[in-house]
Amino acid sequence: VRSDAVVLFGVTGDLVSKKLFPALYELTRRDRLDVPVIGVARSPWDDQQLVTTARKSVAEANDEIDDETFDALARNLSMISGDYADPVTYQRLAERLRDAERPIFYLAIPPAVFGAVVEGLAAAGLADRGRVIVEKPFGRDLASSQELDRTLRAAFDPQRVFRIDHYLGKEAVEGLYAFRFANRLFEPLWNNQHIDNVQVTLAEGFGTQGRAGFYDTVGATRDVLQNHILQVVALIAMEPPVADDTDAFREAEAAVLRQIAPLSPESTVRGQYAGYRDEPGVRPDSNTETFVATRLTIDSPRWAGVPFHLRTGKSLPATATEVVVEFKQPQQPLIRAEGGAGASANLLRFRLGRGDGITMSIQAKSPGAEVASRPVDLSVDFGVALGHRQEAYERLLDDAMDGQHLRFAREETIQQEWRIVEPILDLPAPVQTYEKGTWGPADAEALAGGWHTPYLR
Ligand code: NAP
Repeated sequence: VRSDAVVLFGVTGDLVSKKLFPALYELTRRDRLDVPVIGVARSPWDDQQLVTTARKSVAEANDEIDDETFDALARNLSMISGDYADPVTYQRLAERLRDAERPIFYLAIPPAVFGAVVEGLAAAGLADRGRVIVEKPFGRDLASSQELDRTLRAAFDPQRVFRIDHYLGKEAVEGLYAFRFANRLFEPLWNNQHIDNVQVTLAEGFGTQGRAGFYDTVGATRDVLQNHILQVVALIAMEPPVADDTDAFREAEAAVLRQIAPLSPESTVRGQYAGYRDEPGVRPDSNTETFVATRLTIDSPRWAGVPFHLRTGKSLPATATEVVVEFKQPQQPLIRAEGGAGASANLLRFRLGRGDGITMSIQAKSPGAEVASRPVDLSVDFGVALGHRQEAYERLLDDAMDGQHLRFAREETIQQEWRIVEPILDLPAPVQTYEKGTWGPADAEALAGGWHTPYLR
């Protein structure tokens, strides 16, 4: 049964403005949404304020607004202001949801309030028939994520819980899976016989964007590595699912995470950009990492001996997300590299951020009498080749309303991710300072023996 009402807790917040209003607009435009959308928050907003904010956020995400579409969405919007600890808030919500058979509750609120809201919904009898979407960060560590699962499970049937890691909703990220299993060309090479190493970079060319107070309680490992980066690793490294269905896909994803050894502090470099501690909301002696680089190993016949180097950070030289798969050199080197340089390896570069696509670096014969080679790129931009793709939140909301779990993380998947990062959370060793606009502390360079700089479009 498709959800017949959408309830946005934390409707006054950043996530709703940046992502969810544009997604609701897009779904309305595609005739996928014509149900009541109820915003809930403590701020005393009225319906008009909600509509005005929605319009502003849709305008920011689109070159132009289609008035007919927006008006259709606006007619469905309404507001409930109230305290999450007050049963009256949920009674008013229940009243508004009288006719809804399968409402969906989106918890776009700080994790500290999840418990109160889930209990409030249960007490008002709304959890029995509703679905719930929870955002990352899903807990702060393994123990708190298990605690959160218990809270959710006490109120909601597990089939009706949707845990968002929006990376899984990105077409470019899902494309890793399609690329591997829809092509005969690479899968036979996808193992330690042919692959030398894998690098994943998720770089942000900006700082905390006015959210330093929030960020200081989280840091790069919890914010990005535990979820988005490990999600990408799972897709790159997973075994083929045993069947073409949601359960098999999610099982294959969890299975590869089970084979990943916990990260070690010795193979981890944590950095903090200069000036971070002066930002409003940051503790003056903060040891929170705004950069982390680490090495991961996968204990499986396919991947034994292949290092996966991962890094993410803020205030880096660029905003880019890339996976670079580096292949081994030819078994018998017959062709010299041009100019006597060391031969560069074949690379498969998955560009997952803006201007997504794939670039394959291969060796071609360099011009002239000498039989030598030089690297050249074969490249495709998916925006050009494939045209418009849907936004992650639009697809995820659409899926959750249909009760479709393919693009949502399983409870075990998230717990495995916490298990993997647990040894490097809250390390006492001081973070290393790096200058804004650099690729992090010098030790991070050494960790991977040099990183491939992301291609920028
Ligand atoms: P936010 O802007 O900090 O907060 C959302 C709303 O929650 C606020 O507008 C506020 O509304 C309410 N709120 C704040 N503190 C509260 C408290 N102590 N008790 C009750 N209500 C409180 O958060 P957000 O960035 O939208 O994120 C929402 C959720 O999505 C969080 O779990 C976050 O970790 C996750 N997330 C966010 C992003 C993003 O890009 N922003 C990305 C991924 C995940 P009122 O004061 O009006 O009630």
